[in-house]
Amino acid sequence: MAKKENNNELMEKIVSLCKRRGFIFPGSEIYGGMANSWDYGPLGVELKNNVKQAWWKKFVHSRTDMVGIDAALIMNPKVWEASGHLKNFTDPLVECKKCHERFRADKISGDKCPACGGELTTAKQFNLMFKTFIGPAEESANIAYFRPETAQAMFVDFKQVAETSRKRVPFGIAQIGKAFRNEITPGNFIFRTREFEQMEIEYFIREKDWKKTFEYWHEEMYEWMGELGLAKKHLHDLEVPEKERAHYSKRTIDIEYDFPFGTDELYGLAYRTDFDLANHAKASGQSLEYLDPETQEKFIPHVIEPTFGVDRSVLAVLCESYAEEEAPTAEKGETEKRVVLKFSKWLAPIKVAILPLSKKEELAKVARPIYEDLVKNFACEYDETQSIGKRYRRQDEIGTPYCVTVDFETLEDKAVTVRDRDTMKQERIAVSDLINYLKKKLEE
Ligand code: ATP
Repeated sequence: MAKKENNNELMEKIVSLCKRRGFIFPGSEIYGGMANSWDYGPLGVELKNNVKQAWWKKFVHSRTDMVGIDAALIMNPKVWEASGHLKNFTDPLVECKKCHERFRADKISGDKCPACGGELTTAKQFNLMFKTFIGPAEESANIAYFRPETAQAMFVDFKQVAETSRKRVPFGIAQIGKAFRNEITPGNFIFRTREFEQMEIEYFIREKDWKKTFEYWHEEMYEWMGELGLAKKHLHDLEVPEKERAHYSKRTIDIEYDFPFGTDELYGLAYRTDFDLANHAKASGQSLEYLDPETQEKFIPHVIEPTFGVDRSVLAVLCESYAEEEAPTAEKGETEKRVVLKFSKWLAPIKVAILPLSKKEELAKVARPIYEDLVKNFACEYDETQSIGKRYRRQDEIGTPYCVTVDFETLEDKAVTVRDRDTMKQERIAVSDLINYLKKKLEE
């Protein structure tokens, strides 16, 4: 629930920057768009991939107790029956009797229509799963659902993964992938959409260890958010009361972030008990017990689930790093406003921009080979249009940490000017040292 004061102006600036610079724009726009569908453009996909790759590196590759999977989006519908989603994955829906607008009852305040003030119907439960049909016949026997969370595949595949990976409890299964929810009121840019990506971990434990494992993952999540560059003061834990928890959870903490439109859920941490494995074992008739090879102990593992929305991570990072400041212009003593995305360097979609001072052929002859060399090491952009000041502003707006300027002196001294995004300080670096210099700087 949004609690903090709205900052629509800031949100509009971020949405507009994302569109203008090719981070994120409305989907199917040539057909007038499609409500709340967003496409990630060339810079957006880099930013999103940087988030996903760092997450995978941290939580899968750098650990000895984690493996990954990539499961099918459409699963056997029996999965959703056993998991309780068919019955319980609902939100309360109210409709205005006057303007017929629909709302999620738990996300509005008061008992009147927020759009027109009309009277609302009593709430009825609306299932959020997207339905489809398998094969050519649209018959009830062929109904299937797009997964509303990535989690269930980790439960259904638990036995396979435990056996083939030979991991011993405690261990985790991680997955990054799309999830679909027929949200009643999507909105706030990429915060709530009907198609989104999740990065989820199901961490399998012995029941007795749930409290300490819950605390452990809580800390791990905060460490990750620190790495994303999110300030601690913008993050808040919400201990979800029992009656508001998902049907499978015995404890849930929603980690909320101060978005410009209000404080709302960024990530979640839940203790899912043995609810999912036990129900799948019962419904499938397959044993999902784990046999400890050393102690010969046999049991159904319990589960701690840290879950991370990819799109909400991208949005939080954009909000956190957006800044406007006064910057000196080429004229001595004068300043102008600059917009800058102060990403952590590893998040920046473009790491280095190569900017020849002018379009003159003699500069291009030196600048192009530098670009071709650098691009083998870093995500780079080459830009020779407009004034150098305008090109710096553009790179600031997309968060590029370093700009390399090739000027007429370069022809003589075989050196370039490297400008730092944050300090705007410039340093003269020999072309032969450039790659090593940038590598070091980007790791700082
Ligand atoms: P909310 O209360 O905002 O509807 P939720 O509690 O239903 O979210 P979870 O089921 O815990 O969300 O989903 C895990 C994570 O997936 C969330 O923390 C969020 O980052 C992300 N997420 C959930 N729904 C959406 C959505 N509609 N659009 C974008 N991301 C989402």
